[in-house]
Amino acid sequence: MRSLSPAPTPCARCNGSGWVPHPFDSSRVEPCGCQGDLRRQQRLSSAQIPRRYEHCSLETFKANSPTLRNAKTRVQEFIDLWPGTDEGRGLLMIGPCGAGKTHLAVAALVEIIAAGKPGRMLFSNFQDLIQEIQASFDNDQVPSKSELLRPLLEVDLLVLDELGSQKPTTFVQDILYYVINTRYNEERTTIFTTNYADTADAKDESLTQRIGVRLRSRLYEMTNLISFAGASDFRRNVI
Ligand SMILES: [Zn+2]
Repeated sequence: MRSLSPAPTPCARCNGSGWVPHPFDSSRVEPCGCQGDLRRQQRLSSAQIPRRYEHCSLETFKANSPTLRNAKTRVQEFIDLWPGTDEGRGLLMIGPCGAGKTHLAVAALVEIIAAGKPGRMLFSNFQDLIQEIQASFDNDQVPSKSELLRPLLEVDLLVLDELGSQKPTTFVQDILYYVINTRYNEERTTIFTTNYADTADAKDESLTQRIGVRLRSRLYEMTNLISFAGASDFRRNVI
C-alpha cells in the first residue's frame, strides 16, 4: 500500500489532536473541522488509486464527443445517486483502449469521497489482481488468499479495471466468479472497465471469450452498460 502524501503541518486550531473544546460546554470536546480533510485523505489513500490516475475527476475529463459526453453524464448520475443505487447496480464500461474509461471509473471514487458520501472504496487492476491470486497459490507466504480477497468482497464500491486484460486459468476464473458473485448477492456495487466488446471481430476476442460465460452473464445482472464505442484514443492527441 502507498503511504499518505507528505504530512501536513498540524492544524493550529486543535494543534493536531483532532479535538477542540465544545463551544458551550468546556468539560466536553468535539471533532475539529480539519478532521474532514484528514478523513478524505485517508479514504483516498485506502482506495489505492494508482498515482497515474489520482488527478482523475469529472472536471478533468475531456468529453469532446457525444459518446464521451454521454459517458460522463452517466457517471455523474451514478455519483449523484450514491449510495442509493438500484440494488447495488454498478457500471460496465466497454470501449477501446485510451477512451477514458479508467479516468471516469476513478472519478466516481474520487468524487464520492470528495462529497463526503459514505462507503469504503477500492480500485483494483484486473491483471494485478490475477497475478496476486496466482502468486498466493504458488507460495504459502502472506498475503493469504483470504486476506487478499477480503477487501474485494467487503468494500462498498469496487472498481475492477481492465477486465479481461489477462485470460485467467479456469481455477482463477472460479475465484473471480466467487468474488463477483458474492458482491452481487450482497448487493455491493462494482464498476468494471474493459477493452473487450461483446462481439468478437477479426482481431479481438469477445468479453465472454476472455472471462467466461458465467461471469459475463452475471455482469448483465449487476451493471448498467456504458459504451465508449467509436470514442477515439484521446491520449494520442496529447502526446
Ligand atoms: Zn484541527
